[in-house]
Amino acid sequence: MMKAYLDNNATTRPFPEVVEAMRPYWTDLYVNPSSVVGRMMGIDCAIDNAKRALGQLLGGVDLANCVHLTSGASEANSWALAGALEGCARAHIVVSAIEHPSLLAACDAARRAGHAVTPVTVTHEGVVDCVAFEAALEPETRIVSVMLANNETGAIQPLARLASILRAKAPQAILHCDATQAVGRVPVDLLEVLSEVDLLSLSAHKFHGPMGVGALFIRPGVTIAPLIHGGQERGLRGGTLNAGAAAGLAAACRIARERISEWPRQQARRDNFERALRQVIPAVSINAANASRLPNTSSITIPGLDAADLVDALALQGICIAMGSACSAGSDAPSHVLTAMGLSQAQARSTIRISISQETTQAELDTALSAIVAAAGGSHGNRDEVEARTPYVYP
Ligand code: PMP
Repeated sequence: MMKAYLDNNATTRPFPEVVEAMRPYWTDLYVNPSSVVGRMMGIDCAIDNAKRALGQLLGGVDLANCVHLTSGASEANSWALAGALEGCARAHIVVSAIEHPSLLAACDAARRAGHAVTPVTVTHEGVVDCVAFEAALEPETRIVSVMLANNETGAIQPLARLASILRAKAPQAILHCDATQAVGRVPVDLLEVLSEVDLLSLSAHKFHGPMGVGALFIRPGVTIAPLIHGGQERGLRGGTLNAGAAAGLAAACRIARERISEWPRQQARRDNFERALRQVIPAVSINAANASRLPNTSSITIPGLDAADLVDALALQGICIAMGSACSAGSDAPSHVLTAMGLSQAQARSTIRISISQETTQAELDTALSAIVAAAGGSHGNRDEVEARTPYVYP
């Protein structure tokens, strides 16, 4: 039985309204949306509705002709990079060192194809270093990719500032932003903070939509080549349109917009959790604590702890947390994000990630806190002291 689900940066529970919105497409409305009958039945409207709902969520913009549904953010990231490089013999790419593995792997592929990639360092707080960013740019840089919020630490990147540096130094460059972890958690506005962003990736399952659907926004006037060939989406993204997933995405966008104001309450829960953990285990450090951070993410280093063992032990108790990033699960390498921030390999291996949603209850956080303290107290050899100081009082 699941006692506490605190791994919402890996995925979120689809809202019941999302499941309901999708259901008709798996039962009665199964006709191909692009076929004559599919259009007569109005099934293709699910795609248009999803684009409209996305536009509302991303600052009230009309995205009818400039957003394309994908299988998720990994595809959107791969498309952004490969699509921008098509036709370039030897292009220059600038990318932050803390991007998602899907983006970094696309950079590796580009490097193998003869392009040059300059990674940009981050500060100890996990924020892109603006001086290093400026130094990395060349007048001919083709594409720059910086995420909006990091999936491991929640650190929000200074996109507006980076964009103005970019426009001054490499005005022709395409600016891509992976906003996957930010959408639905903080305002993501294509007309304001992100007004200079040319390409933007997102994924529905990070904000209570279905897995397997995401989107790439392509600003009007920006041209990139398709990644998946076929006739759909005016030749830009092939593949039979997934009307059910689109309906789920639309529902998730609408709910995310309605409920964005609930985040401060959840952030207070997250902050209290961190405070309580620090009170009981003073050696704990919270990564990116002084950066502007998503309201839902805690990256917590507990010196001496084997994070992999703790995650396993908690899973057996029905408590779901993550170590580093779920995206690199199965790999032995310590998190590239934490090491880029200056943590040692040992510190990175002693780091867990707690990520909450709007549904997370105080009881779930209390359960996780007790279990972490019990386990970490043991590994510190001062279990008595730790136990003597529980139960915790939330300020
Ligand atoms: N980018 C970021 C920042 C992510 O956190 C994730 C999911 N871990 C992805 C991209 C990939 O998303 P998807 O699962 O939709 O491919």
